[in-house]
Amino acid sequence: MVDVFIIGAGTAGLSAGIYAAREGLKTHILEHKVYGGQIVNSPVIKNYPGMKEVSGYDFATALYEQAKQEGVTVDFSGVDQVTKDERGFFRIQSGDTVHEAKTVVVATGAANRRLGLDREQELIGRGVSYCATCDGAFFRGKKVAVNGGGNTAVMDAIFLAGYCEKVYLIHRREEFRAEQQLLDQAKEIDNIQFITGATVARLEGEEVLQGLELNFNNGSIDEIAVSGLFVAIGQVPETSAVQSLVALDPSGYVIAGEDCRTTTEGVFAAGDCRTKDIRQLVTAAADGAVAALAAAKYIRASL
Ligand code: NAP
Repeated sequence: MVDVFIIGAGTAGLSAGIYAAREGLKTHILEHKVYGGQIVNSPVIKNYPGMKEVSGYDFATALYEQAKQEGVTVDFSGVDQVTKDERGFFRIQSGDTVHEAKTVVVATGAANRRLGLDREQELIGRGVSYCATCDGAFFRGKKVAVNGGGNTAVMDAIFLAGYCEKVYLIHRREEFRAEQQLLDQAKEIDNIQFITGATVARLEGEEVLQGLELNFNNGSIDEIAVSGLFVAIGQVPETSAVQSLVALDPSGYVIAGEDCRTTTEGVFAAGDCRTKDIRQLVTAAADGAVAALAAAKYIRASL
């Protein structure tokens, strides 16, 4: 029986771990992939207060080591289901193992959204990628496209411009969600070409990606020759393991306010998996602290 069971070792989960352990609570994290969550794939972070510049990998590694140093235990395995028993304790099913906990922090984050195109799955690793920092170097000297209009897409385009002959940045609207400073930086780079008001309608090529068919909002159709497509069109929350434990909004995010309390007492949601306006590294870390301290308060008050 642990005091705080955290699902997910991203920024929110590891931050929750640090705060819970420092409250003297027995804290365990279960992570189904690698520690760090999405930030591991960011080449550089420049907006985390107090750190002028740090790579996503270095940031995540420091956070992971800090959590372990505080006494948090971390295992790598998926969670299948979480239930609350009649005593008010939680049972976390992970394969053949059942963990017991007094409180649960859901910090499962979100996964990359797919375009939903024919052959998208089959061309992953053959031109289609969701991670510019992981796969960008394979496209050295080639023409690639990035699809999306948020911070990730613009950062990916800037990153890829350093390797690739040309980067098309394709976005479905004229206005971008990305920060103005990032956009200005991308516009200054000669080998980035903005294509706005267009969606990727078809992936061309047999064995490997060779081009894209673009559908423009004005009805016109065009084709561009590229050997890589980096899809950066946002995320979908990874909340299936807790769908019968807590209420989710229609998009699948765990319903919880800034206090990180969910609809189930003793369950808290932190980071990108919860309903919120601003999904940033700093808000994920803040959620971790809020959720852990709320869990500590709940344990002291009710158990
Ligand atoms: P995002 O901000 O949600 O942007 C997703 C983009 O993809 C939007 O421009 C959206 O277009 C477009 N899109 C969505 N579905 C699409 C579809 N089916 N076809 C074509 N385009 C589609 O996602 P993100 O850029 O991954 O960022 C997620 C969060 O992380 C944001 O809060 C972001 O600020 C944050 N982030 C922060 C940093 C940083 O702080 N350095 C770095 C990366 C990400 P519309 O605009 O038309 O909806």
